[in-house]
Amino acid sequence: MGTPLESQTEQAAEVVDRLEEAYPDSTISLRYSNRLELLIAVILSAQCTDERVNKETKTLFEKYDGAEDYANAAQDELAEDLNSITYYNSKAEYIRTSCEIILEEHDGEVPDTMDELTELSGVGRKTANVVLQHGHDIVEGIVVDTHVQRLSRRLGLTEEQRPEAIEQELMELVPEGYWQQFTHLCIDHGRAICDARNPDCADCVLADICPSEKGDSEIDLASGEHW
Ligand code: SF4
Repeated sequence: MGTPLESQTEQAAEVVDRLEEAYPDSTISLRYSNRLELLIAVILSAQCTDERVNKETKTLFEKYDGAEDYANAAQDELAEDLNSITYYNSKAEYIRTSCEIILEEHDGEVPDTMDELTELSGVGRKTANVVLQHGHDIVEGIVVDTHVQRLSRRLGLTEEQRPEAIEQELMELVPEGYWQQFTHLCIDHGRAICDARNPDCADCVLADICPSEKGDSEIDLASGEHW
């Protein structure tokens, strides 16, 4: 078991430093060429891999050009165009409805405030944060996805369970200039080393400061259960 640094603030800063060194090019892996495509890609990525989303959006973004195309699309046809994506029926509905709202209330532009974004269909705080950060260069929170959730708990940065509560705690700990990058670093490390089922603690740059490290710790702090 690693020994976390004395304060959670120091722990968070050390985690960021080490992961930055390990993943210097860490960034969003969804592909898009404008804000609407970003919004759609993020809606599609809920409980689906970025890889699969990128594969599907390659043809989707060629077929549909702008909010009007999606808003006017037939539900069945759009759903069929998304059929390799998890929950494609619901997501097609979210996209159509969101585009209707974007046309009716925002002159066809993807809005740039948390309140307006979360009023769109299928858009929660996580999706809105991604769109604000990467679409509008506005960083007002930390995107807490499944990797951020798992790593933050394993590393002793939070004991919270809900993404919204984890985000609030992380915003107290992670230096504001790293709020955006923190997510990408956790995602890269989560994919490469600290995966959900079988993290490779022996090859982890955080092992000596991680209280969940498998060498000695019996407990995975992410789940609270024995390894
Ligand atoms: S891989 Fe192991 S040591 Fe590294 S952060 Fe995950 S649980 Fe901790």
